[in-house]
Amino acid sequence: MKTNTQRYSEQRSTILRIVKATTVHPNADWVYKETQKVLPRISLGTVYRNLHQLAEQGQITMIKDKTLVRYDGNTNEHAHFRCTTCRTWYDIDVREDNIIEALSKSNKFQVSTINLELEGTCESCLNNA
Ligand SMILES: [Zn+2]
Ligand SMILES: [Zn+2]
Repeated sequence: MKTNTQRYSEQRSTILRIVKATTVHPNADWVYKETQKVLPRISLGTVYRNLHQLAEQGQITMIKDKTLVRYDGNTNEHAHFRCTTCRTWYDIDVREDNIIEALSKSNKFQVSTINLELEGTCESCLNNA
């Protein structure tokens, strides 16, 4: 028999591994379905709770996407490109710091917040058009 503590840490590490291994920026339902393949008895509530805790610990990032919450295993600073056709999110290696720095150097602007939103059509959708 496993102790509760062992079971909790097994659940947490499985969920973390699943989120880190994908680039789809999944919502909780997606993570739940994937986790069930490994831990069939896990509940959606447990998945939610663990995702929340992992995000609080900074091991994954929580992103609000309109009415949906998505999770990102890539905790390096990056921007997102959203394909409006297939709705896939892509990681883009753009650092907001660089943009702020460039604007600050011009001495014309002092940036306080930045909110980069990139949307369009991804390569595979362009090829299928
Ligand atoms: Zn696409
Ligand atoms: Zn990302």
